[in-house]
Amino acid sequence: MNIKKVYEWFIDKWLASLLTATIVFILNYYKDLPETEKKVFFHFTSIKTFLNSGIAVWQVALVLVFIVILHFLQIKKLKKEKSQPPKKKIPDDAPFLKYKSDKFGQERWSWDYEWSQYDEKYSLLHIAPNCPKCNTKMEYDAFGGVGTCFKCRIDGKQNTFKVNQLPNDIGKEIERRVHSNEFIDKVI
Ligand SMILES: [Zn+2]
Repeated sequence: MNIKKVYEWFIDKWLASLLTATIVFILNYYKDLPETEKKVFFHFTSIKTFLNSGIAVWQVALVLVFIVILHFLQIKKLKKEKSQPPKKKIPDDAPFLKYKSDKFGQERWSWDYEWSQYDEKYSLLHIAPNCPKCNTKMEYDAFGGVGTCFKCRIDGKQNTFKVNQLPNDIGKEIERRVHSNEFIDKVI
């Protein structure tokens, strides 16, 4: 149930009708009063008489309690909406998400994608060269410009290789290949 709509309907229609009905009721009540009482109608005593004879206090109180409850529910709902902004659905079927490895010059590099909720787009993550001997993704050391292959290290083979490309260039080239749709032929 949409509390806000009920609340708006209540304020717009029901409460307006109630106020109109009350005013009409008071006017009718006033019209039917004897002339002597009309003069003192807006005095405290006449209002007291009106409340006793017209609308019982508990009925007024009930309506007020109802309004307060609706108001409370409305505030609670607004707070909930504020604390939980509507989450945008992450597009997980974009074709480029399968494009995670490619050759750049003589070297093969691999990478991942990360969804940024803030920017509402994907960015590149873990860009690293693959081992030239066994094609395993290597650990890249930017200072030495070398990649280390854990698999070749386990196998007791040469495991450190000179890397010529720069991750920054690779990142830019991946974006260029994605935007130009060149990647499509390379996705299996
Ligand atoms: Zn290797």
